[in-house]
Amino acid sequence: MATSSTYRGRLAPSPTGQLHLGHARTFWFAAERARAAGGKLVLRNEDLDSTRFRLDFVGSMLEDLRWLGFHWDEGPDIGGPLGPYNQSERRSFYRSALEKLHAANLIFLPRSRRDVLDAARAPHEASRELDEPIYPPQFRPPSDTPLPPLGDVINVNWRLRVPDSETLTFDDGYFGPQQAIVGRDFGDFLVWRKDDTPSYQLACVVDDAAMQITEVVRGADLILSTFRQILLYRALGYTAPAFYHCPLMVDDKGVRLAKRHDALSLRAMRESGKPPGEILRNCNLELGKAGTENPK
Ligand code: GLU
Repeated sequence: MATSSTYRGRLAPSPTGQLHLGHARTFWFAAERARAAGGKLVLRNEDLDSTRFRLDFVGSMLEDLRWLGFHWDEGPDIGGPLGPYNQSERRSFYRSALEKLHAANLIFLPRSRRDVLDAARAPHEASRELDEPIYPPQFRPPSDTPLPPLGDVINVNWRLRVPDSETLTFDDGYFGPQQAIVGRDFGDFLVWRKDDTPSYQLACVVDDAAMQITEVVRGADLILSTFRQILLYRALGYTAPAFYHCPLMVDDKGVRLAKRHDALSLRAMRESGKPPGEILRNCNLELGKAGTENPK
């Protein structure tokens, strides 16, 4: 972990639904790691997805987090030196990164989603459960094909060309050593969408680098994304931060908590009169009190 004066962590909620206990738990880990390191915590509002994003969720999201006892040193509501902290206001950063990838010929225009789904490899060929079908390498244009210009308004999908067969590793702060094989566990992935927005992967890497985040704390469902992001750090010439993935919370039937578990939303719990302390104890956590466990 970085030393006390340099540690910078972040909470990166998306305002696409009410936050639930699982988010509270992940954010608790992030807040606690920043506190234990005597570092700073940044709140970044990941409001890029205009189809799922609702403006009224942003205010209630920040309110719920404050009510639970979270504090951040930089964020959309309080500003800071490395803002803006709303992704919707950071377009120029993402566009410059895309231009860099384009100039280095590291991206390409893929075929249609239908083609990809038809040709997708059977999941059992992968060493882990895939979160999206692998883009068929036979559909890539040859790497020396000149790229069409990006244009001012993008209405096509751009994907990163990944180095097939390379083994990527990182040492996770919670789960220990992690490994993935490129081309088997994930393939060429989207960096810019035809609705002219950056992908989550690109925006996340650009922001974590620009906001000088030293450790990314997030749910274990994003471990495969971390491997993709490691490739983007490399392609963009940035140093990757440390990673700490939190185990996911499941409900009493073993189903992962998701936004559809409305009764477990922080808002619903708050409206039912539950005190924040009780909510955090439900996740076996209490802000500022418990130590950070590390089973590594
Ligand atoms: N905005 C993402 C989410 O709410 C988090 C992504 C991340 O932490 O990298 O799921």
